[in-house]
Amino acid sequence: MDYKEIVKTYEALEETTKRLELTSILVDLFENVKCDEIKRVVYLTQGKLGPDYLGLEVGIGEKLIIKAIGESMGIADKKVQEEYRKLGDLGSVAEALTEKRAQRTLFSQPLTLKRVFENLFRMAKKSGSGAQRERLNLLEDLLNDCSRSEAKYLIRTVTGKARLGIADMTILDALAIAFADGDRARVERAYNLCSDLGEIAEMLCKNGKKGIVDIKIEVGIPIRSMLAERLSSPEEILEKMGGRCAAEYKYDGLRIQAHIEDNHVKLFSRRLEDITSQFPDVKEGLLKSFKGKEGVVEGECVVVNLNTGEMRPFQQISHRRGRKYELTEAIEEYPVTLFLFDCLYDGEDLTGISYQERREKLGGIIEECDKIKISTVKVVDDVEELEKFFEDAIEAGCEGLIAKSLESSYKAGARGWQWIKYKREYRAELVDTVDLAIVGAFAGRGRRKGWYGALLMACYNDETDVFESVCKLGTGFTDEVLKEIPKKLGDFKRDAKDPRVESEMEPDYWFSPSVVLEVLGGEITLSPIHRAGYGVLKKDSGLAIRFPRFTGRWREDKKPEDATTSKELIEMYSAQLKRIEE
Ligand code: AMP
Repeated sequence: MDYKEIVKTYEALEETTKRLELTSILVDLFENVKCDEIKRVVYLTQGKLGPDYLGLEVGIGEKLIIKAIGESMGIADKKVQEEYRKLGDLGSVAEALTEKRAQRTLFSQPLTLKRVFENLFRMAKKSGSGAQRERLNLLEDLLNDCSRSEAKYLIRTVTGKARLGIADMTILDALAIAFADGDRARVERAYNLCSDLGEIAEMLCKNGKKGIVDIKIEVGIPIRSMLAERLSSPEEILEKMGGRCAAEYKYDGLRIQAHIEDNHVKLFSRRLEDITSQFPDVKEGLLKSFKGKEGVVEGECVVVNLNTGEMRPFQQISHRRGRKYELTEAIEEYPVTLFLFDCLYDGEDLTGISYQERREKLGGIIEECDKIKISTVKVVDDVEELEKFFEDAIEAGCEGLIAKSLESSYKAGARGWQWIKYKREYRAELVDTVDLAIVGAFAGRGRRKGWYGALLMACYNDETDVFESVCKLGTGFTDEVLKEIPKKLGDFKRDAKDPRVESEMEPDYWFSPSVVLEVLGGEITLSPIHRAGYGVLKKDSGLAIRFPRFTGRWREDKKPEDATTSKELIEMYSAQLKRIEE
């Protein structure tokens, strides 16, 4: 397949903002790709080179990309930089300069998808001292043979910002239509267990629906996490749970899924990245505690005070993820405990059995040690008991409780009422914190001139796969945060609204939903401007968060799709009304 074919599809995708059209363009693409190429097509459409857990990054910085563009076009780096300043996106720079480039040489070869993918893959795999030069050569090799539009998308893929706005869920829809008679549920189940859309596409392409029935949990390959709904009173929780449930402490740290086999341990974040190398102490703890032969367990990793056993605030866990500290120093200064709360595999797939049975299995294969504990849990059937246990959890330094249905199976990748979070309200007069995605920004004025003055924030509608605007956020930013925002957002800037964003408000700058912030809301109100849950509670009205304030917490552990959902906001709004009525 020629690279230009896939670029043509990218162009068509960029033309539309309607999800149905996006899906049908993708269906067309998938139906016309050979099965041995579909994996590459899917990864590139996701803007990746493989599933997240492989951590494949092309690994080439802006400076080198500028150099590669310059060298391949025969233009000085300075000139490329100038264009970059003007256009603000390296893809567009490559596109513009390719036009000005002298004729391609006689030796030019049309680019094939295979060649593009292989060069990018080799770039990702390079390491060591000469790696940068080799990456530069590999990129130049491609740029030399690029047409204008090919150059644009190639560079966007290399910078990790394909900017197509194609969500995994849209790709899933298209795969289900193209190969599985529209049986979306089955395709999604397969994806939840193996987290690799390329692999699923290939299996579907080769054998249709039958191809994915055998997808099973494999140790070493992350499973998409089960998620929780939220409610704000113990009465509602018990009612929803049929009068009885398990209540577990909600630890405030980092979710970790641990895969263990013989003496090997792999740790995955909630975003399914491999984070084993950052937590050698957890790995060691698991090797000591794990008594089974193989298994997959899940828990929350929290920084603790070794002297008092006290849990430390959420922010501290980030010191274990960044590069600010040397690893050994960080392990000493920020010691952690992993509180396990589920067991998904013990040689057998346990996701289909009940919560209660899974907890028993967990108890059977884990012997607690300093580093590895099992989450505190209590079965409750009484409002007062639940409230009391909630207070115990807060007292212990937790964020609240997660109520779990005793009979429920583990619903990988799904948010449902089988798990309900019950979080502390941080201050009496405020509703709660929410996690929102940045989708736009407004130019700063006065003291904030030259920075972004406020951000346009959106929640996620998981039914329509769209980000709906919910507030303009300008409070809670320190100078340090103001400086950091453009850095974190730079790569996600777009010329126009992302097709997955719904907003009446027109900010000065648009961004693809990517960065998630924790926001403390004052009040939720009906709004004619904002689009969260539009038309659900009242015709022509959405929901807005009033008096929003950034808590200082970047939710780097969350993908934009993990942001608070419109459904949750609607429930928070209803709970707030009830409180006012009381
Ligand atoms: P939130 O991040 O506010 O959406 O809350 C859900 C998260 O709480 C999960 O993804 C886990 O990382 C975390 N969590 C902490 N304790 C538990 C627990 N006992 N059971 C399930 N999730 C937990």
